[in-house]
Amino acid sequence: MKIKKILIANRGEIARRIIRTCTKMAIETIAIYADPDEPLPYVREASTSVHLPGTSSTNTYLDGQKIIRIAQDQGADAIHPGYGFLSENAEFAKAVEDSGLIFIGPSPESIEAMGHKIRAKKLALAANVPLIPGNTSPVQSLDQALSEAQSIGYPVLLKAAAGGGGKGMRTIRSDKEMKEMYDRVKSEAKSSFGDEEVFIEKYLEDPKHVEIQLFGDQQGNYVHLFERDCSIQRRHQKVIEEAPCATIRSSTRQKMGKAAIRLAQEVGYFSSGTVEFLMDRDQNFYFLEMNTRLQVEHPVTELITGTDLVKWQILVAEGKPLPRSQDELRIDGHAIELRLYAEDYLDNFSPSPGRIDHMRFPEDPSIRLDMGFEAGQEVTLYFDPMIGKIIGHAEDRERCIRKMQEWLKKTLVTGIDTTIPFGQYVLSSPDFQSGDYAITYYADLEQEDL
Ligand code: ADP
Repeated sequence: MKIKKILIANRGEIARRIIRTCTKMAIETIAIYADPDEPLPYVREASTSVHLPGTSSTNTYLDGQKIIRIAQDQGADAIHPGYGFLSENAEFAKAVEDSGLIFIGPSPESIEAMGHKIRAKKLALAANVPLIPGNTSPVQSLDQALSEAQSIGYPVLLKAAAGGGGKGMRTIRSDKEMKEMYDRVKSEAKSSFGDEEVFIEKYLEDPKHVEIQLFGDQQGNYVHLFERDCSIQRRHQKVIEEAPCATIRSSTRQKMGKAAIRLAQEVGYFSSGTVEFLMDRDQNFYFLEMNTRLQVEHPVTELITGTDLVKWQILVAEGKPLPRSQDELRIDGHAIELRLYAEDYLDNFSPSPGRIDHMRFPEDPSIRLDMGFEAGQEVTLYFDPMIGKIIGHAEDRERCIRKMQEWLKKTLVTGIDTTIPFGQYVLSSPDFQSGDYAITYYADLEQEDL
């Protein structure tokens, strides 16, 4: 079925980015917006915009029933959830389908299967995808936690099975710490994710976070669009991503891509998905989790493969086969993304809300800007403080780094603190330039006391 009108159940840069593809495909769009988001460009750029009164996520972008009702009233035939909010909510995906609309994403069953970290690990095991040493069942008591941790060997990570967004995990280095933290992690899991189930896995000391972008269609075809290195993180959340990974061997890439596809096949997955791995210095890689949506960092993959992944999502949702086969996909050059957050990185990346007084970006066709805000607009504390993303593309990694550095030098954002100075620091640091950096990059910087 041809999709003619899409409701975008999201805000900011991703809503705008989805509108861009829809416009190219001559698809009408319906934006929804909470009170503080009324001035944002996506509201004006959509074919129609509908106000969702309120300032909290629960009353607005998380109110699935209200959103479905708006979609029906406005004559939409599909809903694109973007990332975050309802994008990995299996109940919402099911409710969209039950209301006769198309959910632009995987099936509710796939979302459900991968949304729970223990269940996902079991599927990975069945698909012969290597796991981080640990257990594939929840821990039921402190005694069990202690004996599992001893047999795995400290340090371990105590993780919420229903966790996400870098939250609900704690590194534990001794029996003493386990005794202190066990109840606390469980109750945090319960209050943040409504599920107190926790499990234990080995804490890997300095791996890279490398993830495979994959795509499936409803005919059972699969491709992978290579990897992204997302090791530059703070609070277990990504800030800078690049594709391809600077240090991965092509044999590892192939193995990782095949492992990701095996996992997708295990659940009959279709649409965009990302299989995340931790990769150690010997290039052994271990399954972390699968994200059943479009990732924030998808543009680096688009730039090195010359694809439009939102377009692919829409085509697959219409029941069409994948636009390209594995043989038709090649890596073209190098891409780096810097997430532009309204945050003060010298104060541990604390939010820096306020009015963006000036925002001056030099014109450069090789720098892609996915921006959710314009100068004069206000970044509030109600929602995520991401203003947008800056993505550079060049023939090779060295040139890409240099281009981003030169571009950032001529950039001006005033009124709020942003991650631009952090980006400049990282791009000029020898560890990043060598490509041989790990997820501990920022924690190590903190130790050096910037
Ligand atoms: P979330 O679902 O909250 O994003 P993930 O399981 O994907 O959580 O992990 C997020 C980040 O936490 C990873 O990219 C990595 O930096 C760190 N991490 C997770 N598990 C481990 C582990 N076993 N060892 C070391 N770091 C880990």
